[in-house]
Amino acid sequence: MTDEHSAKTRDSGSELISVDGRPFTDRVYKTQELPDTPTRSFRIAASSWTEAPEELLEAGEDLNEPVAYIRRIGPWLLWRAGPPVGRARYVAVAADASEVLSFELHGKRGVGAGADGRNHDRFRSWKESLRDHGPGESTAPEHPHQWPGEYTYCPLCATELETVEIYDHLRRRCPSCGFIHWRNPGVGAAVVVFDGEGKVLMVRRGPGSTRSGYWSIPAGFVDYGEEIRTAAARELLEETGLVAEVGDVMFVASNFHDPSKLTVGIWFAGTVTGGVLAAGDDADAVGWFALDDLPPLAFETDAVLFERLRGG
Ligand SMILES: [Zn+2]
Repeated sequence: MTDEHSAKTRDSGSELISVDGRPFTDRVYKTQELPDTPTRSFRIAASSWTEAPEELLEAGEDLNEPVAYIRRIGPWLLWRAGPPVGRARYVAVAADASEVLSFELHGKRGVGAGADGRNHDRFRSWKESLRDHGPGESTAPEHPHQWPGEYTYCPLCATELETVEIYDHLRRRCPSCGFIHWRNPGVGAAVVVFDGEGKVLMVRRGPGSTRSGYWSIPAGFVDYGEEIRTAAARELLEETGLVAEVGDVMFVASNFHDPSKLTVGIWFAGTVTGGVLAAGDDADAVGWFALDDLPPLAFETDAVLFERLRGG
């Protein structure tokens, strides 16, 4: 299959014990002295290469395996930590150490970013990317995803998605079934409730929530198929125990605080009609606050609304 794999079974004389049995040489190598092809009777440790980058020296630490030199592939120097079959890590270092790529092998399959900037699940194609692309010659888009959290595989047919510019934006498209990920923000519904003294009802965001420990107006996501005011009332009940009539829109804003999960928020005026005040769901505290004495706020958009309510 590959030179380094076939070396194990090649009958080449007495000095070849086995791939893993070959002793490491004490000699120190400068970059230009590293051989083009595998050495037969000894191995070269990463620590024997005078220009070895830290990333290479540490490549075998978590595997508890030495890192040994394999051969040159174009402008790349190929190294391996671990046995030629089984669990191993291949590391390709640009001869000028400007770039380091690795491939994790688990049996026959593996995963690693190639010199073409794409992910490979086969060692052979990863190695071919080294042959075909020098350091800095990645042909993949520099920012393959416009926003974090985009799909890697087609949600309909599981083919790896490609990045294509469609209507002025980079979008993820399936080369197999044509699915295009038209990415839209989620919709959040919030309910603004005041008590008789003009204090506003707020919840503290519990562990595991975005901006945990900070306070926000009770709010949550609208479910697919759910009417928006129903969603707003549901979220208020879940987080505060209060039942409210959800009325007019007070405020609308786009939220950008989580780039992987953009939302449009709609803040409704609410009038309490029942229930018992108690923090619940993803809120771990609930309270009433004067607009000039607010707790630490989780979201910029809540702050903008409060600013307006104060007449700022
Ligand atoms: Zn598809």
